[in-house]
Amino acid sequence: MFRKIITISLAVAAGIAVHARELGPTSALMPMPASVVMPSGKALSVSDAAIVRSTLPSDHRLLSVYGEIMTRHFGDGAGVDAYIGVDTTMTGSEHYRLEVDSVSLRLCGASEEALFRGLQTLDQLLWGDAVMTASGNVSPIIIDDAPAYPRRALMLDPARHFLPVDDVKRFIDVMASYKYNVLQLHLTDDEGWRVAVEGHPELTDGTDHYTASDIADLVDYAAQRYIEIVPEADIPGHTSAVLTVHPGLGCHIADSAALASAPGNGVMVCAANDSVYALYDDVIRSIASMFTSPYIHLGGDEAAIERNWALCADCRRMMSERGYTDAAQLMNDFFGRMLATVRSCGKKAILWCELDNIYMPAEKYLMEYPADVTLVTWRNGLTPKCIELAAAHGNPLLMAPGEHAYLDYPQMRGDLPEHNNWGMPVTTLRQAYAIEMPSAANVTGVMGTLWGEAINDINRAFYMAYPRAMALAEAGWTPESRRSWDSFRRRLPGALGRLMERGVSFRVPFESFDR
Ligand SMILES: [Zn+2]
Repeated sequence: MFRKIITISLAVAAGIAVHARELGPTSALMPMPASVVMPSGKALSVSDAAIVRSTLPSDHRLLSVYGEIMTRHFGDGAGVDAYIGVDTTMTGSEHYRLEVDSVSLRLCGASEEALFRGLQTLDQLLWGDAVMTASGNVSPIIIDDAPAYPRRALMLDPARHFLPVDDVKRFIDVMASYKYNVLQLHLTDDEGWRVAVEGHPELTDGTDHYTASDIADLVDYAAQRYIEIVPEADIPGHTSAVLTVHPGLGCHIADSAALASAPGNGVMVCAANDSVYALYDDVIRSIASMFTSPYIHLGGDEAAIERNWALCADCRRMMSERGYTDAAQLMNDFFGRMLATVRSCGKKAILWCELDNIYMPAEKYLMEYPADVTLVTWRNGLTPKCIELAAAHGNPLLMAPGEHAYLDYPQMRGDLPEHNNWGMPVTTLRQAYAIEMPSAANVTGVMGTLWGEAINDINRAFYMAYPRAMALAEAGWTPESRRSWDSFRRRLPGALGRLMERGVSFRVPFESFDR
């Protein structure tokens, strides 16, 4: 018995040692870079008289970010001889090269954005190579890196549970570490309208919301971290909040008892009321002027057409004028007008991908999405069909399939605190990692969504996001040939340690460490 225990202990110890040597400075990298070479050779030593050369002006924010990284890992005033610069001969807006030898550290990027991504890698190298870092050394390494997909997004839902500006900033800080470059804010829903609209104070009167200056502050804060904020105002469903303020914008339904008893998501703005278009003309113009993103997301999901437009006298008149047999055909007219406003603001629209059925079999789009509309695939089981249709119709497609990318789903059955679960299925870390990214040219990236029904504050948002958001970050950044669950789970302990150091709430995925 004694002998057996000794044997097992040695095996475990040997296993850990081998892993540590194999991973070395890469042991906390999230996401894994496209190319990593670890040459043998002497380490670069930290000194108190290090010189940093750069193409950037000495007061550039990126140099402060670099300085903060050095200070955090090596202490005040300590650093290494380094060169940090934009290299205009490099292609790809986020392409960077990070090289460390015994003489110096060199970080070159195709753009300032690329340098920022490279600095995240440097931070993780120093964190993961803990013993070397503690002894004032940096291991030699050559990293050549660029993202597999241009858009890596997370979505917050302050409509359901409002998130104060400082909380959103903290979320931005953390997502930037994993090379995310888009934050979608779901600003309107049944439960609340969270963004000020010029000329319409009634929409936000007496409710928690972001003012124009809050938005300017957030957009600027995100931009300094090379993250774009995409605003979403959801229409024509998910509009209880606006209909509470403007009840006249809903459909005229003689027997409204059935509708009144419909659970959630029941009501829609009317397709046949010019006042709806007039209000949303103001909404879209106001949002377009506040956000610098070229995109506005207009929702388009879960419209209860049969319970609203199909029963509305005005909508039915509009149908017969156009010779329609199906009320869903009104979606083309409705979004035709809304998208014209989006285009007139110089912006592009994003919509959730809806098909002619909410389960398979589904054959076609719910409406005729114009080719300039980016679609987001989200419904469980419909992603292969959305991929096929988007490729055939030429729509850019963002991947947010519920079975992998819905970060509000519990991470394990019975997970504590399983807060307010309204029947959401489980998405484990391994399932999140297993998202399959199509290589088709119209697929622009990945988005993890944190729907807010059961996310009542920022700590809960972090707990649900991490570490699954690391898995999705790798799906969006790392080339398919370099993605590996086994590699990912071995980098997890180092990466989670960094979250712990920052005081970020996350779920420890114990099950991922089982053999
Ligand atoms: Zn109507």
